[in-house]
Amino acid sequence: TTFQLQDPTLLRTQCYVDGQWRDANAGKTLAVLDPASGQVLAHVPDAGTDETRQAIDAAHRALPAWRALTAAERARYLRRWYELMLEHKADLARIMTLEQGKPLAEAIGEIGYAASFIEWFAEEGKRAYGEVIPSPAPNTRYVVVKQPVGVCAAITPWNFPSAMITRKAAPALAAGCTLVLKPAELTPLSALALAELAERAGIPAGVFNIVTGDAKTIGAELCSNPIVRKLSFTGSTPVGKLLMEQCAPTLKKLSLELGGNAPFIVFDDADIDAAVKGAMAAKYRNTGQTCICVNRFLVQSGVYDRFVEKLTAATQTLKVGSGLEDGVVQGPLINDAAVQKVERLISDATQKGAQLHTGGKRRSPDTLWFEPTVLANLTQDMDIARQEIFGPVSAVFRFDTEEQAIAMANDTEYGLAAYFYTRDIGRAWRVGEALEYGMVGINTGAISSEVAPFGGIKHSGLGREGSRHGIDEYLELKYMAMGGL
Ligand code: ADP
Repeated sequence: TTFQLQDPTLLRTQCYVDGQWRDANAGKTLAVLDPASGQVLAHVPDAGTDETRQAIDAAHRALPAWRALTAAERARYLRRWYELMLEHKADLARIMTLEQGKPLAEAIGEIGYAASFIEWFAEEGKRAYGEVIPSPAPNTRYVVVKQPVGVCAAITPWNFPSAMITRKAAPALAAGCTLVLKPAELTPLSALALAELAERAGIPAGVFNIVTGDAKTIGAELCSNPIVRKLSFTGSTPVGKLLMEQCAPTLKKLSLELGGNAPFIVFDDADIDAAVKGAMAAKYRNTGQTCICVNRFLVQSGVYDRFVEKLTAATQTLKVGSGLEDGVVQGPLINDAAVQKVERLISDATQKGAQLHTGGKRRSPDTLWFEPTVLANLTQDMDIARQEIFGPVSAVFRFDTEEQAIAMANDTEYGLAAYFYTRDIGRAWRVGEALEYGMVGINTGAISSEVAPFGGIKHSGLGREGSRHGIDEYLELKYMAMGGL
């Protein structure tokens, strides 16, 4: 009744393995909570090693037939899956808002974004071109073909319960790989609804499998099982490093989308109103819970006070509440630990001299709503300068020169997204090239798109997702030398 779906059968609460809906072998379950109310929404299987192994075996059995299809045949399944997602957009968004908390409009946006990866990679699968290399000898020819990696595994986070799955599953399936997915334990219902639609799209049994349950146990099996040839992970940097270690003995290929510490630089010559608009999008999307959300605003002295004032005014207009309520743009944080982390970072900063301009506390005790916050006069010795906030807190630092801004921006182990605002074309190139980041937004706060390569450098990860490059993560190059002509 809580869900009120037009199509109630989208609400699946079992694992999807080998084309079948299954409980955990021991019958154990995990509760799925609504972060807005704290209520239990559903229970899903608490599966472990055996179920994961069964899913890997199913993906292994499904591989030869799936790999043998033409790219156009695989694209037809993916296209159908994409269309079904759009047909059921409203229900999928509702499920997402209930289990994750994001405002319904954002959830609808995410379903469109998630589906776009399936459409994109259905097309890209047909363009996995090889090459012919001019031969170094008269009687030989060199040819390179691209082949699917094989059975793949994916582990995804709760902040984008749908898009982080399709960004991996779509290129994997388009390339001819089969997949076992472990979704975040906080948001399994969005994942299982995607499996329901994959089944309706006719995607053959074993090609796409989902196992829900204990992260450590399932993760250990996905990493150590020799059948799995590749792991794609999106989540925190410490867990990414752990998984990389666990994958070392079987030398798996890896794609890792990890944490960030995004700077957002505002130069004196920037259009300040445009910068504030970009800042709002890049900071407060998903209540600050994205890996490319601004962590540090770096603002040049000449416009510092004006920027802080305008950012504070814009932040005060944000409506906080349940994601299902009209006009709400800031939902609850995902859990109490997330709120406590934000509280800790704010209190550390204010103790060390930061000024609180707005917000700074929970909307009311015992809820997960946090007032959108602006802190000014931040310094490098504060924890917030180094740690990912993952909440609705704008932390504004000051700088004087371009060199200083670049040095501050790069003074982090992370290298995912960076943003800056300037109207000087020379500065745009200089700063764009000097920032040690995988993605740079110049005069924009919105950078995510299925057509662009998403990913980081340094401790933010390995590999790229989306764009024409995203499918390469699921393909191996095979070079064939043909001699004796
Ligand atoms: P966050 O929750 O901050 O997004 P995590 O890295 O903890 O980041 O979670 C991302 C995904 O990684 C989730 O699906 C989670 O269940 C999973 N995960 C967490 N710890 C492990 C682990 N030890 N092994 C495998 N997966 C894990």
